[in-house]
Amino acid sequence: MTTGGTIYALASAPGAAGVAVIRVSGPAAGKVLEALTRAPLPAPRRAVHTRMFAPDSAEKGGKDPDLPIDDGLVLWFPGPGSFTGEDVAELHIHGGRACLEAVFAALAAVPGLRPAEPGEFTRRAFENAKMDLTRAEALADLVAAETEAQRRQAMGQFLGGLAELYDRWRAQVIAVSGELEAAIDFSDEELPEGLVAGVFPKIAGLRAEIAGHLADDRRGERLREGLSAVILGAPNVGKSSLLNKLAGREAAIVAETAGTTRDVIEVHLDLGGLPVSVADTAGLREGAEAVEREGIRRARARAATADLKILVFDAATWPDLDAGTAALVDGASLLVLNKVDLRDPRKDASQMLYVGIKGEQRPIYSVSAKTGSGLTEALGALEEMARARIGPVGSAPLTRARHRAALAEALEALERTAPDKAIELNAEDLRLAARVLGRITGRIDVEDVLDHIFREFCIGK
Ligand code: GDP
Repeated sequence: MTTGGTIYALASAPGAAGVAVIRVSGPAAGKVLEALTRAPLPAPRRAVHTRMFAPDSAEKGGKDPDLPIDDGLVLWFPGPGSFTGEDVAELHIHGGRACLEAVFAALAAVPGLRPAEPGEFTRRAFENAKMDLTRAEALADLVAAETEAQRRQAMGQFLGGLAELYDRWRAQVIAVSGELEAAIDFSDEELPEGLVAGVFPKIAGLRAEIAGHLADDRRGERLREGLSAVILGAPNVGKSSLLNKLAGREAAIVAETAGTTRDVIEVHLDLGGLPVSVADTAGLREGAEAVEREGIRRARARAATADLKILVFDAATWPDLDAGTAALVDGASLLVLNKVDLRDPRKDASQMLYVGIKGEQRPIYSVSAKTGSGLTEALGALEEMARARIGPVGSAPLTRARHRAALAEALEALERTAPDKAIELNAEDLRLAARVLGRITGRIDVEDVLDHIFREFCIGK
């Protein structure tokens, strides 16, 4: 990644909009603002209504040097009191395509200015110690959050929940490591009673805390990434129709002939704040032709990794259920009996049907993908299952594989320490654990992971 210089980018979403925000950050931001507005810098952090001109149009004898490019608001944030810690100028202009292009052309013409790379503003904020890495990641998650539960989790991390926890652990490791290293300077006879022995209960306590944090069944990561659900069932039971109904739009192809849904089609649902993406898969059918077999293979692969399964059966055959589909039932399966508009085995619409599978009586939700009846109840049950799958998310859940890997490494290092080992060996493992914990928040040693982390951001962030 190129670094240094003054960068600019659209900070708001692309496309025609009432207002677009362009951010400029770096040593030349002030000069750019003066040149654009043909006025001295405004008071810091105050929105000022002004006209903006192409900086070089007057000198070059442009066609109409006094015609402004746009009329809008500008803000001036002198460093270090800005988002990036550098001098920052913000231009709030009209969000039309030509307006944006004119302002971008004007900025590009200023020597030393260049378009920002993805995540470069946040990276500068990190490099100027405006935020630690977990907070930078939380910013990316906040921007990407699609549901309320995701937003809350990202906000908790943004407010420093994770950084506080990891920094505290790191400080504790450094403290015990200090105690141990102090012992290296004593000869065996002089060694104060209990100094070394006292260190190990503290390490054991830390180990238990980190292990507990890791044994969270990936709740935070699941919520951040969204839960995955697959719709499974024999051909023609109405899987695609069900997905269409769920999505409220034509997402999957519904066809009369068996075996047409060959690929995996996905819709994203917000179930009471929980993100669940539901995928339709090829019907589970034996002896299908090659392309369809590939679809079935993908369906099975998908089913194996999905958090939740929606197993669909045809009401026409009730109480007999397709054995292939029934064989897939597990603790995270929602059973659905579709096409009850054609044949409803219930006495009345409020009756709940149960089916014995694998030695258990399970509720099966009667629905009609055609009329939409029963879908609210089935979705309610799916939401309950999603909630159970994510479980109560603690105040600062681990949200990324990067954190998990570092914590696991720190835990391994702590587990290698033992009272009967040489002090130097124990001290070395403690130093390693502290270093690895410091990498999560970016306190140390992170140059190699920065590119990877900030690439996830979009341009302008
Ligand atoms: P899939 O192969 O499991 O994805 O099944 P489709 O969604 O393609 O549906 C197969 C056929 O059943 C289509 O003709 C649908 O219109 C029809 N169908 C699906 N669900 C229902 C339903 O609830 N009621 C009725 N009457 N027909 C349905």
